[in-house]
Amino acid sequence: MNRWFSCCCGELGYVQCSELNDSSVIQGFSNQKAGNMALHTGESLERVMANHRRFLRCLGLEDYPLIAGYQVHGTRVALVDGSYPGKSVMDVADLIPETDGLITREPGLALAVFMADCMPIFFYDPRTPAIGIAHAGWRGTLHEISRITLEAMVEAFGTNPADCRIGLGPAICGKCFQVGDELADIFNEKYPDAVRREDNGTFVDLAAVNTMILQQAGVPQSAIVQSNICTICHSEPFFSYRATKTTGRMMGVIALRGGCHVVST
Ligand SMILES: [Zn+2]
Repeated sequence: MNRWFSCCCGELGYVQCSELNDSSVIQGFSNQKAGNMALHTGESLERVMANHRRFLRCLGLEDYPLIAGYQVHGTRVALVDGSYPGKSVMDVADLIPETDGLITREPGLALAVFMADCMPIFFYDPRTPAIGIAHAGWRGTLHEISRITLEAMVEAFGTNPADCRIGLGPAICGKCFQVGDELADIFNEKYPDAVRREDNGTFVDLAAVNTMILQQAGVPQSAIVQSNICTICHSEPFFSYRATKTTGRMMGVIALRGGCHVVST
């Protein structure tokens, strides 16, 4: 059974992790047909905001403030609490500085990450309930943004990793992510099972690395759901920075249902 599946909403498409779907959570990852979601790539703000609204409306998140970080391939995780309601990303200036992970237990807030080839990681603790989302490229993966985001939930909410369900979203796959010798050696030292040496080069499977990290942090393997969807070689239309040097980015978003926060304009 494929535990990630494609959805469409008119022309627009997205994928969802079925393991995270329940009455408390809304989540999804946009595809290229939903348009560019990034605020920092020079496309007109009106166009990007229209793409945000269209995608969020499909998910039923149109009234949820959108909270996101200015991603720097780092490991800083922001706790999004009651001080955020009423704020929403309308411009680069509204992004939380130097932040690649977001967590909250506040209903009615949409936490978002933006990427093209990097991996969106969706966290759901149904017992608390609480959620998180992280942007994990190879740097973030190597510096364990997945573990750090989970541990931020443990510290802030008392989350038990054994309760969590985690979705590893579409990203560059282990057949496409070719690395140089230096990076191969670094990954090989810590995660040899995720490194594959072929005649034409060395390849790293970021989903496998993040799965190992999360398992070591206490999440059951059965609760970690890889999408097996590659932004380069999968037939689904995704933006890929590596393949096309695109300026487009997709959005991964997750929210706890409910709340009544009004977006200020
Ligand atoms: Zn691939």
